[in-house]
Amino acid sequence: MPLLYQSTRNKSNQVTASQAILQGLATDGGLYVPVKFPKVDLDFDQLKNATYQEIATLVLSAFFDDFSHEEIDKAVKSAYGKKFDTAEIAPVKQVGDHFVLELFHGETIAFKDMALSILPFLTTLSAKKNAVDNEIVILTATSGDTGKAAMAGFADVPQTKIIVFYPKNGVSKIQERQMLTQTGENVHVVGIDGNFDEAQTAVKTMFNDEKLRQKMLANGKQFSSANSMNIGRLIPQVAYYIYAYAQLVKSGNITAGEKIDFSVPTGNFGNILAAHYARKIGLPIKQLICASNKNNVLTDFFNTGTYNKKRNFYVTSSPSMDILISSNLERLIFELTDEDDKMTSKFLTELSKTGEYKITEKMQEKLANFSADWASEAVISDEIATTFVEEHYVLDPHTAVASAVYRRLKPAEKTVVVSTASPYKFPKVVLESLTEPSKNLTDFEAVEALEKISKTPLPKAVSDLFNAEIRHNTVIATAEMQHEVESYLKLK
Ligand SMILES: *Cc1c(COP(=O)(O)O)cnc(C)c1O
Repeated sequence: MPLLYQSTRNKSNQVTASQAILQGLATDGGLYVPVKFPKVDLDFDQLKNATYQEIATLVLSAFFDDFSHEEIDKAVKSAYGKKFDTAEIAPVKQVGDHFVLELFHGETIAFKDMALSILPFLTTLSAKKNAVDNEIVILTATSGDTGKAAMAGFADVPQTKIIVFYPKNGVSKIQERQMLTQTGENVHVVGIDGNFDEAQTAVKTMFNDEKLRQKMLANGKQFSSANSMNIGRLIPQVAYYIYAYAQLVKSGNITAGEKIDFSVPTGNFGNILAAHYARKIGLPIKQLICASNKNNVLTDFFNTGTYNKKRNFYVTSSPSMDILISSNLERLIFELTDEDDKMTSKFLTELSKTGEYKITEKMQEKLANFSADWASEAVISDEIATTFVEEHYVLDPHTAVASAVYRRLKPAEKTVVVSTASPYKFPKVVLESLTEPSKNLTDFEAVEALEKISKTPLPKAVSDLFNAEIRHNTVIATAEMQHEVESYLKLK
């Protein structure tokens, strides 16, 4: 019997891993979660000597057991290879009294590469396994990093197309340029005049639109998602938490079995949920620190039990965390209700109807192994400056959020700050934190200035951007998103 996945909104909707990966979202609007968590043998006396690829294979084979070991092994080797600029894939660095797990060594220099470099392999394998010969259309809303990483992963992959929507005024210039220069015959990227939440809501609506689904099928196509709602995104992320722990055992900084904390810069709640899943399969984690920027809806949720999205939306220096509806939280809510699908649906319906919900006290008690806090724009800037002056280490603004929150909470355990982007992806903010606010530099001039000051090597992903050709220029109103999809796909 393979491990099955159930929808958070209808437990009787159960599918295999490959079916869950293909579908992305459950058709009832819920998210797929494992019916039972697999048993994984985490023997760190052995794992400390394992490669990233070996640990990824261990995790993926356990969770996605309708794939053969050979299939997983091949996908892992293809994904975590030359596209990364370090053989370690996800190095752990000591920075002062804590550690930083660098997840930005992939093609697009942000942590989304960790999952999106393998998702295309899992998606096409899943299609084959389920005898699906429809064209798979990846439909994705991005707050900046997912879009580029997904396009890089899916570009020219046979039997797939990918459409990415991003908030025209909500991403950094580097992020936008990365997307607009994307090559590949099967990629389409579109700016919208709304924010990320609006883009994501419209994408979810299209996924759940039965009429559109039928129309797609009639045209030999079906949607899938590259967002972190897809279990095929979430599970590969479990691997680097285990890898990081193994590296700390190897370097003698912790002993096997010692509990540690992770501080995670959080937006859609995917990265930190992967850490929680690592904990559920036995990784010794005490606290997971949920770090937010000024869009601090999750800080309030963890500290009060009320999720309330009725608040101002801020465009911050950490745009990939500018999110008021953290979709993956639904998976945690489902767990907190003791897997009550009706109750989970009720909370989520309340959220879309009234803009808020309050969990019960019993549910709130189960949140004791999470801590949460947030960092303002000024605190982020200070954190970047302080870390550079004291430790000669350059943080990007997202990582700075997690670092600042760690510094404020100062847990007793050894702590790993999860670093989700290279500072070169957000050069202006980083530069302005390290120097006096300068004249009006472009992002590209800022990159050069940052390289001089920080003396950290410029990733190829950024230097290549300077000369790349702009290939996309569509901008539309949010209300036009479905129309854009239908016309790009030439649906009849
Ligand atoms: C996506 C992203 C985040 C937020 O991760 P979630 O899984 O959405 O919580 C943080 N930092 C960077 C740089 C990102 O790209």
